[in-house]
Amino acid sequence: MVILRAVLAPLGRQVHRQLEQVRRQRWVPARGCNLSACSSRSLLSQMHPMWQEPLAVPGGDRQSPIDIAVPKSVFDPQLKPLVTRYDPRTCQQIWNNGYSFLVEYDDTTDKSTLYGGPLEDQFRLCQFHFHWGENNGWGSEHTVDRLLYSAELHLVHWNSDKYTLFEEAVMENNGLAVIAVFLKVGKRHEGLQKLVDALPAVRHKDSVVEFTKFDPACLLPENMDDYWTYSGSLTTPPLTEAVTWIIMKQPIEVSHDQLAVFRSLLFTSAEEDVQKSMVNNFRVQQPLRGRTVRSSFSPFLQGTPSGEGPHAAQ
Ligand SMILES: [Zn+2]
Repeated sequence: MVILRAVLAPLGRQVHRQLEQVRRQRWVPARGCNLSACSSRSLLSQMHPMWQEPLAVPGGDRQSPIDIAVPKSVFDPQLKPLVTRYDPRTCQQIWNNGYSFLVEYDDTTDKSTLYGGPLEDQFRLCQFHFHWGENNGWGSEHTVDRLLYSAELHLVHWNSDKYTLFEEAVMENNGLAVIAVFLKVGKRHEGLQKLVDALPAVRHKDSVVEFTKFDPACLLPENMDDYWTYSGSLTTPPLTEAVTWIIMKQPIEVSHDQLAVFRSLLFTSAEEDVQKSMVNNFRVQQPLRGRTVRSSFSPFLQGTPSGEGPHAAQ
């Protein structure tokens, strides 16, 4: 225990220092819209690619991802339907940031927005990205009753009613709203294919390619009524606890070959001698610490999520 404390205390201080540094910098991203992880590249490269120390140490009491224990989730009939209004013309580019690939949207106006559900304000889409494993047996960040999916999509939005920039919202309570969609392996996803076809152009870290007119709504499941929601954090640095998570119950299906293209990307830049496949780019799960996961549906009426998609955690 003493040894553990002796190790953890300095790590904790280091994490605190790094978060303070991020807060002070109020970094201005190279592009109009970034995942916070991308905006703090120095932090990212320190732990890249597999969440080694020190940032694997939880930063607070509302960290993400978590396991969603369905029997413990609380049905909240007050939760409203989600409303997404995405304009494909705001789609701009794909960027391999060395941890995932980001499809980035112009977020200077309220053209692609999310509201409703658990949200009081309007949120603006700035990017989406995925997390996946080295095989189909795992890859999602969140789990459902300890069941893993092969991958997980995150659509990142920031509160444009309260803040003027993503960089401001990412540091504040209620600053971000992320829609998470699980991916399970099955039939080919036609909507995703346009994106898959573009990925070879961003194989290496730091490569960017123009990518336009992609409607992110095509990646949402048919059933948008059933979701879980809880308060959490970014799963990449700076790990700020700014996120209202909205996790769709129904997964989407993608083919093994489509996920194989994700895995053909690299964590490494073209100049590096040893190339590393971009796989297992998920954060380890974090303790719930007394938080409530609310559901928009009654688990007792509809049963727990089933199907062949998720895999039992080892
Ligand atoms: Zn993510």
